[in-house]
Amino acid sequence: MPDIGTHESQDSNVWLKVSSAQLPRLPQYLPFSHPHAPPSPEGHTASSSSSPPLSPGPYNPHHARHAPKPPAPRRRASPPPGPRTRNLRKPEETNEVRKRHACYHCRIRRVKCDAEDICGKCQNECKKVGCHLPQKSCIRRTLSETLGPVVRRWSWKEFAMPIREQFRAERSSVWIDFSEDAYSSPLHLTVGAFTPQGWPAGDLLPLGIVPNEGPSDQSIYNWVSGQIATENLGTFESRTFESLIEGLLCDYVDNDCLQRAVNLERHGLDNKQRVFVQTQKVLMRNLRNMSCMWKLWSSDQLFHRLDDVDGAATRPFHEGLQSVHAWLRLSAEQAMSTLERDILRDMDSYLSPIEIRHQDKPILASSVHVAMWISMWQIILIYRQSLSHAYAGPLWMRDKQDKQDKFWETTEHLFNGVVVIYSALFRTRNVLENLRDASLEAFGNDKRLQLAFQQAWAAHSEFYLDVGDRYSSTDSLFKSHIIAKEESIFGRKRQVRKGL
Ligand SMILES: [Zn+2]
Ligand SMILES: [Zn+2]
Repeated sequence: MPDIGTHESQDSNVWLKVSSAQLPRLPQYLPFSHPHAPPSPEGHTASSSSSPPLSPGPYNPHHARHAPKPPAPRRRASPPPGPRTRNLRKPEETNEVRKRHACYHCRIRRVKCDAEDICGKCQNECKKVGCHLPQKSCIRRTLSETLGPVVRRWSWKEFAMPIREQFRAERSSVWIDFSEDAYSSPLHLTVGAFTPQGWPAGDLLPLGIVPNEGPSDQSIYNWVSGQIATENLGTFESRTFESLIEGLLCDYVDNDCLQRAVNLERHGLDNKQRVFVQTQKVLMRNLRNMSCMWKLWSSDQLFHRLDDVDGAATRPFHEGLQSVHAWLRLSAEQAMSTLERDILRDMDSYLSPIEIRHQDKPILASSVHVAMWISMWQIILIYRQSLSHAYAGPLWMRDKQDKQDKFWETTEHLFNGVVVIYSALFRTRNVLENLRDASLEAFGNDKRLQLAFQQAWAAHSEFYLDVGDRYSSTDSLFKSHIIAKEESIFGRKRQVRKGL
């Protein structure tokens, strides 16, 4: 672990004396910012060993994660004596920026931030894209810090689950589907009848899932991703951008597309790049699982059949199955709360993105951009949809009002955070065009995946129009920093409208 205190004071000293244009390449940072770790094995959460930051910002998420309270030199009672005393031109300002951390925009763009409530760079950016809420776009806390220490963030609905003693001895089977005419395999559940407290004698008993007899998370993932794959078979025209991204992510992860693409890179990968790819793979697997659980969590209506044979009648869940629905929702909540924490921790590495030059390693650069683009979109869409869902949801689950408000507030912050990261990562015409034209090799020579990506790309301008036409109090940053910005880069707003 490098001495963060020393690192910071060197940073700030250099920072004040050179122009921002020179900052990214300063060798002084590198010895401190290479926590070289060997590539982690598959399945291991590789966050701690992700990309070393090249940004000049004084804040380093890796360090912060492992050493939440580093001894800060600024707290010293008196300055060190003799030659070590530094001649800072504006020490108060430096301390202030250090204390507040450089903002997302400045970190990703590797430019100098300042200590204003809204830094100068963000003020300019907001003017450029017509953003009316610059205070929301100049963000300094990492995604993990924004999430905070809360354990079960997604559980803000309440439903009493039956205990084992309330169940009768007999068990039966039901098969669960997402829709009435599902073509994918249903989820098999073992259920039992139970007697809720104060249940009138003689009334039909509801069905529920006996504690420890429910399906595993893995079987839920398999079921939902099967459903997503079936929806993928529909015609392209009938599908929304959201469902195209969801399908693309599942397919991309299940076919290990990033690894296959990276294997084609003729110039090989250095250690830092291997670590990044590994982290990105873990991140995408977690995101895929989160998107499966999100689909389950947000479905207000499930369907069931009592037989697994073809042609068995599929019916909407009735009153007597509410407990089963609640159980599935609770499983989704638990899984999502954990997955989200891992995802955001890994996504914080996007705040100090590794630099891969297209000229040097074209396949690696393209495939990493594609992977980050898919990941950013999936998390943006989950947050955007949950904001519109947060005050809806099934009536039979009672809201815990304060938890719900907190959920809303945190989700809005996270949504704006990922929007700002996206807009800073994909900020130039060059990057966006390279992405759009990503070669077949960037998909590991998988034509089907390249086509799925191109379809998602093609659908996103339609999606922008749709979002642009709707009023939503939470879409403000999304509209200015992503939609307006990309439209100005490509100048396509009017053309698309005319083409409709
Ligand atoms: Zn800034
Ligand atoms: Zn800023």
